[in-house]
Amino acid sequence: MSDSTRLKIAVQKKGRLSDDSIALLKAIGIKLQIRDRLLIAHSTNQPIDLLLVRDDDIPGLVMDGVVDMGFIGENELEEKMLERQSSNRPAEFKTLRRLDYGGCRLSIAIPNEMQYDGIKTLNGSKVATTYPYLLERYFKENNIDAQAVMLTGSVEVAPRAGVADAICDLVSTGATLEANGLREQEVIFESKAVLIQRAQPLSDDKQALINRLLPRVDGVLQAKESKYIMLHAPKAYLEQVKSLLPGAENPTVLPLAGNDDTVAIHVVSSETLFWETMEKLKSLGCSSILVMPIEKMMG
Ligand code: ATP
Ligand code: MG
Repeated sequence: MSDSTRLKIAVQKKGRLSDDSIALLKAIGIKLQIRDRLLIAHSTNQPIDLLLVRDDDIPGLVMDGVVDMGFIGENELEEKMLERQSSNRPAEFKTLRRLDYGGCRLSIAIPNEMQYDGIKTLNGSKVATTYPYLLERYFKENNIDAQAVMLTGSVEVAPRAGVADAICDLVSTGATLEANGLREQEVIFESKAVLIQRAQPLSDDKQALINRLLPRVDGVLQAKESKYIMLHAPKAYLEQVKSLLPGAENPTVLPLAGNDDTVAIHVVSSETLFWETMEKLKSLGCSSILVMPIEKMMG
């Protein structure tokens, strides 16, 4: 029997979301020992258990309250929600954070040789997909009378196999489409990984733990987007130098020992510094320009 006082988090066992989700959990201070082939992993320093499952199962586990939280792609989550709503099953959850990985789009693609004259071209066609509910919603919203053909895998070969006229599948670079002689025509859904919580209330202890972890998630996300920039700048050009530094409202300006004409500037920037900007800074007489990653941030 599992210990119901421990926070249960569902994570994809093996696939595109696994590594980033587990890295995020580790980055917020949760120590984990994940052994191959096991469904459950216990944290050694927090009352947290990970459930390692197929991503298809994660939305349902959260919606049924079997786990407390889950990491899942919005595409999978939205599809499951529509599916459950259509049969009046529980489909509630809370989105805690939209994350910075798992980015992709659900797109309709057609064979290269097919003529295309806007979405109305799809009228009367068969479109193979793993996401029939999202696709049918799109057809409905756009007044298209087409048929979604459900395939759980190898969607991209459906047109060649004569199973469908077009496909609706996840795309990130487009390389798979190209390799299969398909071209992307309509983006129907844009997705990222999200962290969700079950809708049913949790014990005070579990909720308090989540509330303590979320600012850490924010800190990790913010740190990844931020850079620590240091440089030496001539005092005479201080204002010009500041105006070149991106997202730097309040730089720290420090004197340099034994040098009255130069100051050191330290700044946390929400953007990186491009080579072009570094070159401009250098031409203003700046030196020792350093751009460093930040590991963690808090308030
Ligand atoms: P599982 O065995 O867990 O069911 P899967 O094959 O369904 O795995 P993956 O291919 O690992 O799933 O993709 C998981 C999620 O990663 C997708 O649902 C989507 O949210 C995201 N993703 C990001 N980029 C892509 C991409 N190029 N193709 C497919 N999914 C992507
Ligand atoms: Mg899956």
